[in-house]
Amino acid sequence: MIENDVFHHPLVVELLDETRTLWALGHAMSLMGWDLETNMPGKGVTARSEAFSNLAVLQRNLLLRDEIVKTVDKLSEGIEELDDYEKGVVRVLSREIRIARALPEELVAKLAKVTSEATRIWSEAKKRNDFDRFRPHLEEIMKLVREKAERLGYDQHPYDALLDLYEEGLRTRDVEEIFSSLVPTTRRILDKVLSDDFYPRKHPLEDFSYDPERARELMKEILLKLGWDWNRGRLDESPHPFTMGLDVDDVRITTRYEGKDIRRALYSVIHEFGHALYELQIDRRISMTPIGGGVSLGVHESQSRFWENMIGRSHWFLKGVEEIIAKYLGAVAEHSWLELYRYVNTVRPDLVRVDADELTYNLHIYLRFQLEKRLISGDAQVGELPELWDSGIEELLGIRPKNYSEGVLQDIHWSHGSIGYFPTYTLGNLIAAQVWGKMRSEIDGLPELVEKLDLQPIRRWLRDRIHRWGATYPPSSLIQRVLGERPSTEHITRYFEWKYLKLPDELRR
Ligand code: MG
Repeated sequence: MIENDVFHHPLVVELLDETRTLWALGHAMSLMGWDLETNMPGKGVTARSEAFSNLAVLQRNLLLRDEIVKTVDKLSEGIEELDDYEKGVVRVLSREIRIARALPEELVAKLAKVTSEATRIWSEAKKRNDFDRFRPHLEEIMKLVREKAERLGYDQHPYDALLDLYEEGLRTRDVEEIFSSLVPTTRRILDKVLSDDFYPRKHPLEDFSYDPERARELMKEILLKLGWDWNRGRLDESPHPFTMGLDVDDVRITTRYEGKDIRRALYSVIHEFGHALYELQIDRRISMTPIGGGVSLGVHESQSRFWENMIGRSHWFLKGVEEIIAKYLGAVAEHSWLELYRYVNTVRPDLVRVDADELTYNLHIYLRFQLEKRLISGDAQVGELPELWDSGIEELLGIRPKNYSEGVLQDIHWSHGSIGYFPTYTLGNLIAAQVWGKMRSEIDGLPELVEKLDLQPIRRWLRDRIHRWGATYPPSSLIQRVLGERPSTEHITRYFEWKYLKLPDELRR
């Protein structure tokens, strides 16, 4: 029997016993996933995919056992007797069971097969700038994903069912409402930024080469300053930086060193640190349970964006790390913190989402949201995508892709069948600004703390407000509860206006 001092209801304790094997299986699969991205020899991918799909079936069968389903049903009937943690366990498991039941094994297996083939084809098609090569695969994926939405069910829009998979409770109309104010605000601010020269479109340090060996040392020191505990975390290298939380005491992040433009490596480390800190600060009494992880993609991304943008790209932080950066990257030492600030905050309309700055980033998400919504409702066809993409980005940013690789083929997400995922990035940006607004009003002398790299009060605030709860509350209730309001564009608008319109005058003086 599992010993704990959080869960008391006997049926919940029994349920946690029953789900422990599921947790262990998830733990093993996470480690397999981490290894696949960091260490596995390329040819290992065939066996690894086969192992994954077999274990996914096992996972599903374990979850749908009577011992779990019946207990969850029984607990749902008397939900009012349970405390918040216990309610959280029942909510998370009910949701997983509902999703697993809605999607027949054949559909899941088909999607896995089609997407693993499509991912390979996408990568080739992107290299060769050949949309037609990818097109039939994407058509098949869209067909299967539409079936998935129908089976999952929805009230208003089939896209709702998909959004909900990545962000519990998020609806198409919520996302529409967000963009209806965020897009015009962003474009208004962008126009002003581009007509001024404070935030440059390009900075000479972008062309600056560095020694990866020195950069590795720099990242270790930056992580230490952020509060990294090497007994509970690792930093490795992978082509696509990511975070893998295996347990509250075992969280791994990665970055990559390209030898040029150090901010790419630096800010992916700070970004992943934000994801990692969330997992590291979850109440250890709920670890290894269904609520022992971050609650949603949007809330997770808010934590990474908060550290990357609000802290990491602030002029206070750059004053704080100026000397450390100079120590490892000599040539950078000639540049003042103000120059570093302008280097890490260039603003320019860019065709590629992952290269986009903080301000224009959400416009890229808006384009993808519109296209996904239309594809899912049948209002647009895959064959029309390249033209819809090119004209869409031109309308938003005034630039047009010269080829598919920097246009419609740039992202991996669709080849994975991840439709409905992109909006969680913008949601994360919104929540990050909300956290920042609230924190500034509650922590005295926040700018000075950042400048001194005395970041413990910030970590503690995030732990007490957000991290410790894990998935106890649904994402939007958590935000409402801890920040006092639902996610909205109010804070990000205020933050952008301060950073891009007011701050330049202060810093110029
Ligand atoms: Mg992220």
